[in-house]
Amino acid sequence: MTSNEIGDSSLTIRVSGIVQGVGFRPFVYRIASRLRLSGYIRNMGGSEVEIRVEGPPKSLSAFVKSLLDEKPSPARIEEILIKVSAPDGIEGFRILPSVKRAGLYSMIPPDIAVCEECLREVYDASDRHYRYPFNSCVWCGPRFSMMRDVPYDRANTAMDEFPLCEECMREYCDPNNIRRFHAQGISCPNCGPSIWLEDANGRRIDVEDPLREVSKIIDEGGIVAIKGVGGYHIACLATDDEVVKKLRERKKRPTKPFALMALDLEVVEEHLVVDDQSRSILTSPERPILLLTKKEGSLLSRFIAPGLNTIGVMLPYTPLHHMILNETKDRILIMTSGNEHNKPMCTTVDCARSRLGNIVDYFLHHNREIVHRVDDSVVRFTNGRLTMLRRSRGYAPMWLRLPRKLRVPVIAFGAELQNVGAVAFSDKVVLTQFIGDTDELENLEFLEKMLIFFIDVYRVDPSNSVLVADLHPRYASRRLAERWAETYNAELRLVQHHHAHIASVMVENKVPIGSKVVGIAMDGLGYGDDGTFWGGEVLLCGYDSYERIGGLRPQPMPGGDLATRFPVRMLIGILSTFMSDLEVMRVLEQLNLIDKLPKGRTEALVSLKQARKGTPLISSIGRVLDAVAALLNISHVRTYEGEPAMKLESVASEGRLLEGIEAPIKGNLVDTSRLVESLMEVNGDTRDLAYTTLYLLGRSLGDIAVRHASSLDGDFILVSGGAAVNSILIKGIEDAAMEGGFRVRLNSKVPVGDGGIALGQVASQLPSLGSEQ
Ligand SMILES: [Zn+2]
Ligand SMILES: [Zn+2]
Repeated sequence: MTSNEIGDSSLTIRVSGIVQGVGFRPFVYRIASRLRLSGYIRNMGGSEVEIRVEGPPKSLSAFVKSLLDEKPSPARIEEILIKVSAPDGIEGFRILPSVKRAGLYSMIPPDIAVCEECLREVYDASDRHYRYPFNSCVWCGPRFSMMRDVPYDRANTAMDEFPLCEECMREYCDPNNIRRFHAQGISCPNCGPSIWLEDANGRRIDVEDPLREVSKIIDEGGIVAIKGVGGYHIACLATDDEVVKKLRERKKRPTKPFALMALDLEVVEEHLVVDDQSRSILTSPERPILLLTKKEGSLLSRFIAPGLNTIGVMLPYTPLHHMILNETKDRILIMTSGNEHNKPMCTTVDCARSRLGNIVDYFLHHNREIVHRVDDSVVRFTNGRLTMLRRSRGYAPMWLRLPRKLRVPVIAFGAELQNVGAVAFSDKVVLTQFIGDTDELENLEFLEKMLIFFIDVYRVDPSNSVLVADLHPRYASRRLAERWAETYNAELRLVQHHHAHIASVMVENKVPIGSKVVGIAMDGLGYGDDGTFWGGEVLLCGYDSYERIGGLRPQPMPGGDLATRFPVRMLIGILSTFMSDLEVMRVLEQLNLIDKLPKGRTEALVSLKQARKGTPLISSIGRVLDAVAALLNISHVRTYEGEPAMKLESVASEGRLLEGIEAPIKGNLVDTSRLVESLMEVNGDTRDLAYTTLYLLGRSLGDIAVRHASSLDGDFILVSGGAAVNSILIKGIEDAAMEGGFRVRLNSKVPVGDGGIALGQVASQLPSLGSEQ
C-alpha cells in the first residue's frame, strides 16, 4: 500500500503577518515534529512564510489548530491561505533557507514586552541572566525602537555596538535553543548594555545594584527619570499625595492624568476594576496603558487623575521595569513620560540631563541607543468595545492593509494635535508611532524625521508620490506638506478633517470602493469647508467625497481659541443665542461662573459682545460639552485636550437618563441651544444632568444618521473623531442605530481621534489612486 492509499495528504500553508523575527519557524518545527509530520518551512520575504506539511489528515488538522492556538505570543497572523494537494513523500521536517524575493517589503516588527521565560531567568540566581535588565529572546524585547534600517538584523539595530560574547554566540548558533537561535537582539551581563545611576546634577553614584537603589529612592519619596525602551519615564510613588503634588509642580502639569505601572494583575486589581478582557489586554505583548475605573478604597493618590473616575495603568514590559517595581513597597508607581511640557519625550542622556534635571532627583540611564522615540500606547473601553487613544509602542509601525493596491505611493501628514503621519505603498499603510502636537516645532521635526525614515526603508520616492494634508490652513503639518510638495515637485491634496475621520473607519471596515456610508464625526475642532469650524457632523461619505447632511447647530465661539481654554466663554456663546445680555449675566452670577474667567466681569461682557457678532462659528461637540461642563460646575479651565469632556463623562458615568431635557432636531441640526436651555429648567442631580446631556447628544446625532442611512445599502453607521471614545455618547448613537436597524462601527486599529486622520487621508485617495481590481 502506498502512503496515498492509507490517506496521507499534504498542505501548503502561506502565513503572513508578523511571522519573522519572533521565533515562528522553530515553533512550526516543534509542532510538526510533535505530530510526526514531514515537510518544511521557509521565510518568503515580505512578512510571509510558507509551510508544507504531509501526513494523516487528522494530524494535519491538529497541526493547523496548533499553528493558530499555540503560536509565539508576539507573532501576528494577518492572513492564512491553505492549499490541499497530494503528498510528495517528503522525509522529515526541515527549516529551509529564506527565499529572497526582490520588490517585497518586510514588516518592521514593533517593540515586544518581555516574555515569561526571560523574566524567570532574571529572577533565577543560577541563571547567567540573573538580574540582567535587558534580558530578551526571540519572543520578546525591543525591535522598532532600536532599528536603524530593515531587515531586523542585529547589524541594523542599536545592538550592533554590543558584540555577542562567547556564550551568547553559542546560544545564537544552536538550533536546539528555541528562544535564542538566531535571535537578533539578545545579550547578557557580559556583553550587553549596562545601567548607571546619577543625581540630578549628573554626578554618577556608585552603588552595587542601581535597580535596588532606585526602588529605595522611590520608596523614600524621590522622583527618578528612568530610561526605557522608547524614551525616558518619570517614576515616583502613586500613593503619596505630597510626592504626586511635588511632581505636578515640578512638571508644571496641574491636572493632566499620570499613567501608572503595576507589577502584575494582582496589584492592578487592588486598585482598579479589572475584568477578563482587561486582563488579556494588560498582559498582551503590546502592553498598552489601559484606562480602568478606580476602585473604592484604593490607596492611590487622588492627585493622579483629578476629576476623573479612571486611571491609566500598564504592566512592566522590560526586566528593568519589573525588577524596580518588584522591590518597591507599593508595587505600583507613577510612570509618566519624561518630557518637558508639550515637548517630545527625551530619548538621550543629554536630553534627560538638560530637560528633566529640574523635575527629578535621580536618573537611571543605560547605554543602548534609542533610535526611534516610541511613546506608550493608550487604550480604553468605549461602551464595551476597545478603542485606541494612542497607537504607538507595541503596535507601530505594523502596517495596515488597504482594500486596493495604490498605483502611486501616498504620504500623509495627519492633522495637528496628537498627530501621526503615514506612508502608504502597494496595499499597505505604515502609520508612524505617536508624534505629539505638531504645533510644537520639535514634534513637527520628529514627524518629518519619521516620514523620511519610512520612505527610506520602504523605498518610496516622494517626487513620485501624492502628498496629503489637512485642509486647515494654519496647521504646521500642512505647511510641512506644502514644503515637501515644493521640494519634491509632488502633488499636494488637501482633505477635510472630518471626512478623513470617516474615511479612516470606512477603510478599517472594508467598505467597498464606490459605495456610500453615513458617518458621524465628532471631536473638538476641525476646519470646515465653509470657513466655520466643525466637530459634530453627520456626513454622507464615499472615500473621496462627502456631503454634510446634518450635525450640531453652529454656535458662536467667543474669542476663538480662548473659548477652547475657558469653557465659560463657550457657555456664554450658547446662552447668548436664547437670552438677553442681562439674563446671561444673571445666570453667570447665580452659578458663580464670572470669577471662573481670568478677567472676570470684563471678560464676560467682552465674550458676550463677541458672541453677538456671531463669529467664529463652531458646530463641535467638544465645545458643547465644554459649555455644559462649565454650566454644571464640573470644569472651568481646560489644561489639557479634552479635559472638560472627560470630566463630564466621569461625572456622568454614575448618572441616569432624566425626563424633561431635550436635544431636538431642527431641520437636520441638533439644537444645542435648546439642550442647554432645557438643562437649566430641570432640577436634577449633576450626575444625571451630565449623563442625559451626553446620551441625548449621541441619540440625536444617531437619529439624523439613521434617517439618511435608510436609503443606502449598508446596515451600519460609522463613527469616528476624538469624542467617539465617550461611552455615553456612543450608547446614545447605538440606541438610535439599533432602533433604526443599524449597527455602529468605530475605529479599532487606529485611534478614533486625530491619530487616525493619516489613515483616513490615505483612504480618501483610494478611488483615484487605487488600481483597478
Ligand atoms: Zn523573552
Ligand atoms: Zn553575552
